[in-house]
Amino acid sequence: MKPLTEQEIRTAFVNCTKGEAKRLSVPRDLAERPWDDLDYLGWRDPQAPDRAYVVAELGDGLKGITLRCPGTTVGQLRRSMCSMCVTTHTGGVSLMVAPKAGRAGQQGNSVGAYICSDLACSLYVRGKRDAGVGGRLHESLTLEEKIQRTVANLAAFVAKVTA
Ligand SMILES: [Zn+2]
Repeated sequence: MKPLTEQEIRTAFVNCTKGEAKRLSVPRDLAERPWDDLDYLGWRDPQAPDRAYVVAELGDGLKGITLRCPGTTVGQLRRSMCSMCVTTHTGGVSLMVAPKAGRAGQQGNSVGAYICSDLACSLYVRGKRDAGVGGRLHESLTLEEKIQRTVANLAAFVAKVTA
């Protein structure tokens, strides 16, 4: 993806108030992020570990989503699969819940998904970060197809948030 500025990131959020988007903690190391290898920018809030953020360009403009991780990581010993990038981790997948955009969100409606706890799906898909033994299924898909699948999964999740 193309590198983003703090301003672009803050204005992209669709499921929080403008005030929250202005205050939330944007990574300070934007210049060092591996943008060429990212399908989305995802990070955990260093001040509030139960909060996470995802920003992606999904064909119809830049979209940012705020997420809560209500529990700790799913079962420390249980293997779970990320619903975005289909990587299996032992204790490295979190249930993340996004308030829906607009009135539905104000009424408390939300959408959840199991996502890599470190939000590094793009790097697992490309083999740039190791998920351990059995982390990646052997598949006949090309890298490009796996990337497209991850983006499609993320787009479907964002569409549910904004629906
Ligand atoms: Zn993932």
